[in-house]
Amino acid sequence: MIDIIIIGGGASGSFLASLLPNSHLFEKTNRLCSKLLLTGNGACNITHDEEIRDFISHYYDKKNFISPAIYSFGPEKIKEYLKSKGVDTYSREDGKVFPTSNRAETIKAALTEDIKNIHLNEEVKKIEKLDSYFIVTTTKAEYKSKIVVIATGGASYPLTGSDGTFFPAIKALGHKIIPLRPALSALTTQSIDTHKIEGVTLNNVTLLHKGKRYSGSIVFTKRGISGPLAMNLSRSIENNDELTLISAQIDRDEIKKQNGKAKCINVLHEMTALPKAFLEAIVPCPDKTIAELSKKDIQGIMEAISALKLIVKLDKLSLATVTKGGVDTAELDKKTFSSKIVDNLYIIGECTDVDGECGGYNLTYALASAYCAYKAILLG
Ligand SMILES: Cc1cc2nc3c(=O)[nH]c(=O)nc-3n(C[C@H](O)[C@H](O)[C@H](O)COP(=O)(O)OP(=O)(O)OC[C@H]3O[C@@H](n4cnc5c(N)ncnc54)[C@H](O)[C@@H]3O)c2cc1C
Repeated sequence: MIDIIIIGGGASGSFLASLLPNSHLFEKTNRLCSKLLLTGNGACNITHDEEIRDFISHYYDKKNFISPAIYSFGPEKIKEYLKSKGVDTYSREDGKVFPTSNRAETIKAALTEDIKNIHLNEEVKKIEKLDSYFIVTTTKAEYKSKIVVIATGGASYPLTGSDGTFFPAIKALGHKIIPLRPALSALTTQSIDTHKIEGVTLNNVTLLHKGKRYSGSIVFTKRGISGPLAMNLSRSIENNDELTLISAQIDRDEIKKQNGKAKCINVLHEMTALPKAFLEAIVPCPDKTIAELSKKDIQGIMEAISALKLIVKLDKLSLATVTKGGVDTAELDKKTFSSKIVDNLYIIGECTDVDGECGGYNLTYALASAYCAYKAILLG
């Protein structure tokens, strides 16, 4: 009989296994923390320097659910823990916290070095609950365990191992699975040709979606838009939704007052400080001079700069940074992450229906939920 079986060797499962020496960690791929190694472009944005009250506001409608976990093991505790493992961190101007090494490998080492019992290349296929213990069936054997923790992640970047295939087994235990969909995903659009402006960033712009205003920065990609603003919004986008991009506010009369001989694109660049490449891609008559602009041209310019309509589509779930949906949080105790359906079962990390914004919030949640389960298991 094993005391504790942890299923999934990502950030949350590995951290928990390192805190619980009597646990056995099962990971279906041949290495731990594959997804963590991709984070922050390989530098790992592990958390965010922010007052806890503000920190919590980055989890959309899950503020109440995640609050006890973030208060137990928020940004300060994470930095302290890493420091105790010899990993120094620093925060960038925008608050994002990274290891000083700028290498996710450093964080992986800190989260995994104390793990005692690792079963790599061993996929858990089924969990059965008997009266006082679980039978966990893997691709290699059958194990008995008093406690089971599920940390199998979401369904994006399936090559990292978190491919969503374990959700039916969680459902079979009686848990409700909220439908999975992309979050923190890039958006595609054919409303403008973004090929020529790939990599162009617009800071402090506004997107209108279904009557609500969202502000931040976007980056154009070959097929559409990305960047924090677009990615944070993606969780509520349905295919073919309309977004209105307000890049700058511009006064119609001011345009007409400019030097008539000047090329309109140069004037607009000076008036708005928007990148020329972007203006060239959206303005209907970039080569005309100010004197040549008709009323219709000016109307077109106004709309392009202050109300550009974009019909957008979501990227595939497999390409999203985070999965929205998963185990219904109403069926979990928010202080312990124990199941309200099955005794001695815990469910942590991204396989639960929690997703945070860009900026270190998802890894923080993975670690904080693991820490809450650790405390609860320790107290018995
Ligand atoms: C490209 C990219 C960049 C990101 N950047 C950031 C960032 O900078 N900051 C941030 O906060 N978040 C970031 N994220 C999100 C963050 O990586 C995840 O939210 C976090 O890793 C989730 O941790 P987890 O332990 O819940 O799941 P995962 O890390 O997904 O781990 C789940 C593990 O379970 C294993 N598994 C699944 N099923 C089974 C099974 N049946 N048996 C055994 N093992 C199984 C999988 O192989 C996997 O190893 C990024 C994500 C991506 C894809």
